[in-house]
Amino acid sequence: MSNTAAAIATAETHSAHNYHPLPVVVASADGAWMTDVEGRRYLDMLAGYSALNFGHGNRRLIDAAKAQLERVTLTSRAFHHDRFADFCTQLAELCGMEMVLPMNTGAEAVETAVKTARKWGYKIKGVPDGQAKIVVAADNFHGRTTTIVSFSTDPEARADFGPYTPGFQVVPYGDVDALDAAVDENTVAVLLEPIQGEAGVLVPPPGYLSFVRELTRVRNVLFIADEIQSGLGRTGKTFACEHEDVVPDMYVLGKALGGGVVPVSAVVSSAEVLGVFRPGEHGSTFGGNPLACAVALEVIAMLRSGEYQQRATELGDHLHHELGLLVGGGAVEAVRGRGLWAGIDITPSRGTGRQISERLMDRGVLVKDTHGSTIRIAPPLVISKEDLDWGLDQLRDVLAD
Ligand SMILES: *Cc1c(COP(=O)(O)O)cnc(C)c1O
Repeated sequence: MSNTAAAIATAETHSAHNYHPLPVVVASADGAWMTDVEGRRYLDMLAGYSALNFGHGNRRLIDAAKAQLERVTLTSRAFHHDRFADFCTQLAELCGMEMVLPMNTGAEAVETAVKTARKWGYKIKGVPDGQAKIVVAADNFHGRTTTIVSFSTDPEARADFGPYTPGFQVVPYGDVDALDAAVDENTVAVLLEPIQGEAGVLVPPPGYLSFVRELTRVRNVLFIADEIQSGLGRTGKTFACEHEDVVPDMYVLGKALGGGVVPVSAVVSSAEVLGVFRPGEHGSTFGGNPLACAVALEVIAMLRSGEYQQRATELGDHLHHELGLLVGGGAVEAVRGRGLWAGIDITPSRGTGRQISERLMDRGVLVKDTHGSTIRIAPPLVISKEDLDWGLDQLRDVLAD
């Protein structure tokens, strides 16, 4: 048996089958490229679902991590450490906000946002105890905890995991009237992805995010933007909300915040909102640890330069121009996205998203399918134009087969 087949067979035996990975076993990676255990190279057009915006083995991030590994990695929040204040200050500043609550994974940050909004609702807005409602969008993806899957509309993510957490109302994404009707006096928050990633890189209709901002402002409801996947450079801006000049009340961040090195997530908001917490009311053993802060500080410094956002804009324009040429040619029904991020609906008769992904893998390009015949493209923002073009050539060839 090959190294690949042996590794996959063993993984299938000893790991839960909650994923269906492509049959590639990665051994190392650099920039936009990964190398498998057989020595084959692949262009990474997924970038860890945007956790790897700055590429594999990014020198600045690895150096920051190594230096911190030698000093101190964990104190717990029982004590202060010397990277914490800088991390919180600089992340708040990047977001144009005042306070940060650090966690580890995206789902934990979403949970934190939910708890924050409820507590704000009871303590500041004056919602009767136990009545807080959060409005969310259909086809959302906010993570995998029991509370979060309670308001998922994806049967795969939700079925058999009840009883479900109450307190959420689902409205169609992009529908201003439905949102207007759903928000009532007990509504504490509207929680949305400014672009829905897992749903297939769905960009809402123009004006939607501005409408959400205005509605939530007038009705005294928090606008929570889950920018875990859309944020930190991917769309050509630091935050996808910026495309509509919208500033939410709360950003939920994760994925690229840890640079693909360590899990780092955070809720970032005003002092009024995050100020609702008292000691003992929320926490995480690893949240805000020194290693996480050191890596995230470097991520923040890289984003402050604007160069990654600019790359995402320029290469993204090129990507969407090239993908646009495929629409109507028979193999591609639609392309959506912003910046270096695209969802491509393949004509179903040409194959499922999975089949297209496998054919691309055979040609040395790694992507991930989502729902049915959609594949998404989200290469590291450090990808070269030549490599991006080579990846697009492979896609064209696969679709022409
Ligand atoms: C990935 C993702 C999450 C969950 O993050 P995890 O780190 O996997 O828990 C939440 N929201 C969005 C928009 C995401 O893309």
